[in-house]
Amino acid sequence: MARPLAGVRIAIVGGGIIGLAAARASVHAGADVTLFERDRVGQGATLAASGLVTLGLRGRSSLRQLKRAGYRAMERWIPELKGRLPEVAGERRSAIRLFETVPPTRDKLLAAWLEAGHDARFLDPAEAAAPIPGLDPASFSIALHLDQEIVVDPPALIQALRDDFVSGGGVLHEEVGPLSIVPSRANDVAIIDSGGRSVAEDADRILVASGWQSVAALGSLPDPSLAVAPTGGIGLDLHAEPAEWTVHFGDKGRTHWLKRGVDHVYLGSTVRGEGSTEPTDDAERSALLAVARAHFPSLDESAVFRVRDGLRPKAQRRGGPFLGAYPGRPRLWIATGHYRLGVATAAATAEQLVRAWSGGEPTDPGFAVLRGLE
Ligand SMILES: Cc1cc2nc3c(=O)[nH]c(=O)nc-3n(C[C@H](O)[C@H](O)[C@H](O)COP(=O)(O)OP(=O)(O)OC[C@H]3O[C@@H](n4cnc5c(N)ncnc54)[C@H](O)[C@@H]3O)c2cc1C
Repeated sequence: MARPLAGVRIAIVGGGIIGLAAARASVHAGADVTLFERDRVGQGATLAASGLVTLGLRGRSSLRQLKRAGYRAMERWIPELKGRLPEVAGERRSAIRLFETVPPTRDKLLAAWLEAGHDARFLDPAEAAAPIPGLDPASFSIALHLDQEIVVDPPALIQALRDDFVSGGGVLHEEVGPLSIVPSRANDVAIIDSGGRSVAEDADRILVASGWQSVAALGSLPDPSLAVAPTGGIGLDLHAEPAEWTVHFGDKGRTHWLKRGVDHVYLGSTVRGEGSTEPTDDAERSALLAVARAHFPSLDESAVFRVRDGLRPKAQRRGGPFLGAYPGRPRLWIATGHYRLGVATAAATAEQLVRAWSGGEPTDPGFAVLRGLE
């Protein structure tokens, strides 16, 4: 196996899906990797994620490209990880998107999905609702069937990545409290742990993967227009019988149906205002349940058995999440998940970092997605 990072020492601050994916990919590429997590790995935004990994639409924006690359990379990663942790669910799923009214650009839309690589087709309400118990066919006008959706269970995926990383020789420090990156000399940085000690001094690369707390971790460095805002949101898991389908409701009425071989669920998710770290309120939860009930009239509050609640890193700049080298500090890099796509983009983000660290890519002082995605 090629080991393009053989002998390279990497320190990673933050063990969410992005930090762990980067850690695992770097170890596989031969690097000596140490990961520092303030609490336990996967307890940040990643714990709240629904785990949808979608191919998305065609499009040339850096985010769309990263999302597509993320889907393809996850297709490769899942079989690799399955041997380690069989519970990682990740087969390709069917998805059905419901539309309240027939989109005026229906043909163009279908062409766009087909061009993106989906086996896409429109279904009338009776055809779409037939295999899905409880779905009211009168609640939508048309449905789009897609075949390119992957569902992973984020805690299981985190566990698999963690185990793979550690068994590959990676060093993991959990519950170390918040680390800070501080300037040192003209163009360097140091990592300071919560006891005030400098750690990983000999690292060749330092990756900040601290999710929405990335700005705080970089607190005393000059800010080169780095803006990562927490963006709250909830998801609901609902019992529905017989439960052969996972349903993902968007808060703006977009709806996915995802076939899944587990004994529940419906999922939904909302997005709260940027910058807010307020806890979930009942109104938010009720609004989400109302979206579900519009399609499944028999659902009530008692169907809710899990509320996923988390702060996503909203890290948008020039169409992409933050992924790149920190200007003027050659050892320092940053990678965050993006909003609703951190799980979806994690595998590609990690592969991009390995490629860049292997000398293949130019760095990007603007912190947008690295160039050169296929
Ligand atoms: C309800 C909901 C549903 C979602 N559904 C999906 C979905 O279906 N698909 C999808 O792709 N995405 C989804 N997301 C988004 C996804 O959860 C995030 O984009 C992703 O988890 C972000 O990963 P991350 O590694 O950047 O951040 P995090 O998971 O937050 O990880 C950052 C880690 O860094 C640690 N840390 C922070 N500061 C420090 C420090 N100073 N020192 C050391 N450690 C530190 C934290 O403790 C944390 O463990 C969803 C989010 C929510 C809230």
